[in-house]
Amino acid sequence: MLDCLFCKMNSGQVPVQKVAENEHAFAIRDINPRAPIHDLIIPRVHIDSGRDFEWVHGEVLAGVFMLSKEVARLEGVWEPGYRLAFNVGDAAGMTISHLHLHLLGGRALGPEG
Ligand SMILES: [Zn+2]
Repeated sequence: MLDCLFCKMNSGQVPVQKVAENEHAFAIRDINPRAPIHDLIIPRVHIDSGRDFEWVHGEVLAGVFMLSKEVARLEGVWEPGYRLAFNVGDAAGMTISHLHLHLLGGRALGPEG
């Protein structure tokens, strides 16, 4: 995608500090954190949102979840725990149309939020 911020970060066109990365995904800190730890795990391939998952994305999604484990350890939230969330669409507050997994932690998060 030519005009996608996350695709530009992946290609290096927009420089960004990465928390961690693997073959399928990279992780950055959210610029508007909702918790003491708030990182985004972003697949390298462009998938618009959770509405656009297909079976062919299976390996990419596994790469996203495997990277989330590494990020949780690096950020020190492995214990007592953390939240993984995909926002889908406007009602969920999705602001960039390139699939990304939110990792939140560093405080008691409650059942939502
Ligand atoms: Zn993209």
